[in-house]
Amino acid sequence: MKRRHFIKNAALSSAGLAVSGSIVGCADTPSEEKKISLAPTSKKATLPMVIATWHVIDATAKAMEILQAGGNALDAVEQGCRVEEANEKGQSVGKGGLPDRDGNVTLDACIMNKHGNCGSVVYLQNITHAVSVARKVMENTPHVMLAGEGAKQFAISEGFKIENLLTDASKKAWEKWQVEAKYKPIINIENHDTIGMLAIDKNGDISGACTTSGLAYKLGGRVGDSPIIGSGLFIDNEIGGCVATGLGEEVVKTVGSFLVVELMRQGKSPQEACEEAIGRIVNKPHSNFKDFQVGYIAVNKKGETGSYSIHQWFSMTKFQDGVNEQIQSDYFNKG
Ligand code: ASP
Repeated sequence: MKRRHFIKNAALSSAGLAVSGSIVGCADTPSEEKKISLAPTSKKATLPMVIATWHVIDATAKAMEILQAGGNALDAVEQGCRVEEANEKGQSVGKGGLPDRDGNVTLDACIMNKHGNCGSVVYLQNITHAVSVARKVMENTPHVMLAGEGAKQFAISEGFKIENLLTDASKKAWEKWQVEAKYKPIINIENHDTIGMLAIDKNGDISGACTTSGLAYKLGGRVGDSPIIGSGLFIDNEIGGCVATGLGEEVVKTVGSFLVVELMRQGKSPQEACEEAIGRIVNKPHSNFKDFQVGYIAVNKKGETGSYSIHQWFSMTKFQDGVNEQIQSDYFNKG
């Protein structure tokens, strides 16, 4: 994943659990920066289209391939997320994801379709394609969410392969972290971020998906916003969709993605809705927003998009009108 060039910034570090570095300071290489658009365009939106968190042009390209062939938005977001889950170099999702503080790679993912149906897995281990397990939960069980060993056994029963997800690179990073952190909750910035994707197919139907290995070096058992419907992801096919990345605890506290969709229902544009949802976090009395990052991307039924974050360096990848590009998000904390 090319987005993985991050800036260590002590001022943005958390005094508690590890907060991901690319969340607070993800930048691309200077040559890539030249290709980044700086603001959402006002061009008339066309369908089909797909957007994703961060710089994941291979993932959005895969999703668009499906959409252009007449495929539906649900298949597009699942297949798009799978590209990043299989990418061992990406240390934030699927195989190669950074582990928790005990060295276990644990995945969270969810998916939601045009009917408002959804599936989710939390604390899933040894299965690369968590997003596809989430889809199986939605389609083949009467439940919405499966956790831990139960989720793993369900995945095996559905034919998923057991794999070791801890790559040498992630193991090395974890070992280095242990030396530096002395296994204590101290200031620690890691390279981390969630892949969330929203697509509208040629019929105008919306689906979304979200997949992550969660915060690097989290406490064992920790679950973030990403698999929680309404927090990490929400779709209402009448209105639009939203996905979140960043410090999941803050997204959960404001039920962020549901909030963004509800704000669009009230008439706000995707951009205005994302900005107001970030406002709900940063304007809380005694908010310590300087210590963490949250970013939202959203799309409305017309295919208009928005993205906004607390701090600089959040971006969205958008494939629409034949252009697959990274768009730098506007942000709240301009100092
Ligand atoms: N939102 C994810 C979580 O809190 C982390 C991320 O976006 O990197 O688990």
